[in-house]
Amino acid sequence: TNFGFKYVPESMKEKLVGQVFTNVASKYDVMNDAMSLGIHRLWKDYFIRTMAPGPGTKLLDVAGGTGDITMGFLNYCKEIHGDTSAQVTLLDINPKMLDVGRERFNKTPYNQTSQIQFEIGNAENLSTISSNSFDVYTIAFGIRNCTHIDRVLSEAYRVLRPGGRFMCLEFGKVQNPIISSIYNLYSFQIIPVLGQVIAADRDSYQYLVESIQRFPSQDKFTEMIKDTGFTVIDKGWEDLTFGIAAIHSGFKL
Ligand code: SAM
Repeated sequence: TNFGFKYVPESMKEKLVGQVFTNVASKYDVMNDAMSLGIHRLWKDYFIRTMAPGPGTKLLDVAGGTGDITMGFLNYCKEIHGDTSAQVTLLDINPKMLDVGRERFNKTPYNQTSQIQFEIGNAENLSTISSNSFDVYTIAFGIRNCTHIDRVLSEAYRVLRPGGRFMCLEFGKVQNPIISSIYNLYSFQIIPVLGQVIAADRDSYQYLVESIQRFPSQDKFTEMIKDTGFTVIDKGWEDLTFGIAAIHSGFKL
């Protein structure tokens, strides 16, 4: 089958990704719930609990989009430590996604604080962010959309302070053959239809499914993280829901 996007050249990927997220921005949150049956919320909660940020943590949330990770982080700091000194910079390449994010935070108490800053920027070249300036760097379901993963990783390494932690939440490869065939069926047959029905945009969700297929396996991605200079603990990642998603983490030591 020709899935339409399979042969997009590298030079056009950034443009395509830009169109995809501009198209889906207003429906993005609803679609996440629909496609994952709400499970992405559990993954994100678990991601924040794995991070377990201490009081005053400075987070750079790259490809932060509509702000799920930023929101989870600030809520965690407040609920667990009563901490309102933690700070986040939410960075995304797409102004439409950032607009949806800003609007969402406008309706929360965080709006009146200086805890959040929004920034437009490219994960591959964080030109506005100084070196050694953050405690934690997160990228959730974002690195898959970037053209050069190695550049994203080396920028992450640069902006983290020594001792800082890189954390990535991303789709992975499912090892179990039975689960894998069900998952593939769901991905290729159901998700584009959901995209069509809910967001009137089949192509963007076709892109989503393909980008998941093309992203490296957990062990290959871990090798890239290590090659950047990060130190990983144990095998370097944790599978979520049979490996449909995974948390990768590394320290700048
Ligand atoms: N982190 C959010 C979450 O988990 O809900 C948003 C994830 S969304 C699937 C992917 C985001 O990556 C989009 O908002 C998109 O604009 C952004 N993005 C894509 N390429 C990027 C790049 N090169 N630099 C920064 N952000 C990028």
